[in-house]
Amino acid sequence: MQGTTAKPRPRIDPVSRGFWDNARAGKLSVQMCQDCGDKHFPGSPVCPKCLSENQSWAPVSGKGTLLSWVRFHRAYWDGFRDDLPYLVCLVGLDEGPLLMSNLAGVEPEQIRIGARVEAIFESIDEEFTLPKFRVSD
Ligand SMILES: [Zn+2]
Repeated sequence: MQGTTAKPRPRIDPVSRGFWDNARAGKLSVQMCQDCGDKHFPGSPVCPKCLSENQSWAPVSGKGTLLSWVRFHRAYWDGFRDDLPYLVCLVGLDEGPLLMSNLAGVEPEQIRIGARVEAIFESIDEEFTLPKFRVSD
C-alpha cells in the first residue's frame, strides 16, 4: 500500500523547533536554561532543574562517548524494514546530556563501549535533517 512504508517523522513543535532548525544547519544542539544554565535533552517547556520557561537551543560540539548500543533485527515500523539490521546508540555528549541516535558506518564487531563518537547529519528532505553518530577514533 502506498504511504504505509514511510518512516515516522519527529513532531516539530515550538519546543523542539530550535533543535531541528540547528540540525538542518548541520549543528547539534541541546536545550539550555537561560536562568540557571542547565543543559538538557530532549527539550522541555520548562527547565528540569529550576522550572524556568526561559529556554533556548545551544549548539554543542557534536562530540561524545558511546555509552550503549543495540542492533535492531526486527522492523517495528515497516519504514525501517529496508534498513535492517541497523544500530541504535546512546551517546553521552561532552556537554553532559544523553542522546539516543543511530550509529552509522561501523560493523558491530568493531564497536566498543566508551568509543569517541561525533555527530553526522543526514538530510531527509528540506524540512528535516537527522543527526546520527559515527565513531571518531
Ligand atoms: Zn534552569
